[in-house]
Amino acid sequence: MKCKVCGREAVIKLKAYNTSLCADDFISFFEKRVEETIRKYSLLKNGRPIVAVSGGKDSLTLWYILNKLGVAADGIYVNLGIGEYSLNSLEKVKKMAQRLNRKVYIFDVCEIVGKNIEGIARIMKRVPCSACGMVKRYVMNRVCLDMGYDVVLTGHNLDDEASALFGNLLYWREGYLWKKDLTLEEKDGRLSRKAKPLFLCSERETAAYAIVSRIDYIYEECPLSFDAKSLVYKEVLNRIEEISPGTKIAFVKGYLKMLKKRKAFEEEGDGKGMGVCEVCGYPARGLRCAMCRLMEKSDTSKQIAFIEYNPEEA
Ligand code: SF4
Ligand SMILES: [Zn+2]
Ligand SMILES: [Zn+2]
Repeated sequence: MKCKVCGREAVIKLKAYNTSLCADDFISFFEKRVEETIRKYSLLKNGRPIVAVSGGKDSLTLWYILNKLGVAADGIYVNLGIGEYSLNSLEKVKKMAQRLNRKVYIFDVCEIVGKNIEGIARIMKRVPCSACGMVKRYVMNRVCLDMGYDVVLTGHNLDDEASALFGNLLYWREGYLWKKDLTLEEKDGRLSRKAKPLFLCSERETAAYAIVSRIDYIYEECPLSFDAKSLVYKEVLNRIEEISPGTKIAFVKGYLKMLKKRKAFEEEGDGKGMGVCEVCGYPARGLRCAMCRLMEKSDTSKQIAFIEYNPEEA
C-alpha cells in the first residue's frame, strides 16, 4: 500500500476519502481537517480557548494539535478520584502540560467535596456518569468564565457524535436530538461558549494521529463506564461504514444541515428556562445550581477552588 501523496509506504488507509497515506502525510491531512473545521465553522472566533482534558486520546490530541497549530490553549482536568484510573489519567495530563508547556486547572472532587465521584453520585441519588457530567459541566463553565477564557473545547469525535445521534433517532428523543451542535453559544456571561473541533474526525483517525504523534494517553476506559448501548451503536455504524465508506460523516454533516435550517425558524439555547444560582451566580434550573446543592449536602467546609498546575513552576 503506497501513500497517495508521496508514494512512500502508507501506514493508514482512509476509505471514506479513498486514499492511503504515510505517517507524515497523514499528520498533515489530519491537522488540516481540524484547522478547516475550526475556520469553516468559526469555532474559536479569535477568542482564548481552554481544552477540557481527561487523559484520553481525543482530548489530549485536541490539546496537542491546537498548540501545534499556534493556538495557545490551556487545559481543565477534573480528578474524579477513581483509584488507579484517575492517578494514571492525571499523570498523562500533566505530561502533556509539560510537553506543551501549558497550564492546566485541576478540580479535585475528593479534596473539594470530600467524596469521590461514586460518593457524590450517592449523595445526588444519580448514577455516576450523570453526577460526573454535572460536575464536569460546572467546572468547565466556571474555569472558563472565572479565568478569562472565551471558549471551552472538548474532544468529542465523529463516532461519539454519530452514535449519540443514532441513539436519539432510534428512540426519537426529540428533546436531545436537536441539542447536538458544533458550538454552543455564550449566554449572558454565565454560560461559556463551547465547541468541538474534532467533530468531523473519526475515532480511528484520532487514535492513529495520537499514535504517530507519540501522544501518551490512557488506554483504559473509565471503570464506571457502562454505556453498553453507545458501544453497540458505534459497532453498528462501523459495520455500515465498512460496506459504505463515508456514511458516518455524511450522517453527521446531513444532521448539521438540517439543524441549520431548523435554527433559522426557531430560536434555541441551552440556557433556555435557566435562572441564576443564588449562591455562586452561575446558571441554575432552580434557586440553587446542582453543584451548590451538592456542596450543601456534603459535609465539607471547602469552597470551590482549582489547583493551577504550571509546568514552568513544577
Ligand atoms: S464513564 Fe461516566 S464516570 Fe467515567 S468519566 Fe465518563 S461520564 Fe464520568
Ligand atoms: Zn506520503
Ligand atoms: Zn451554584
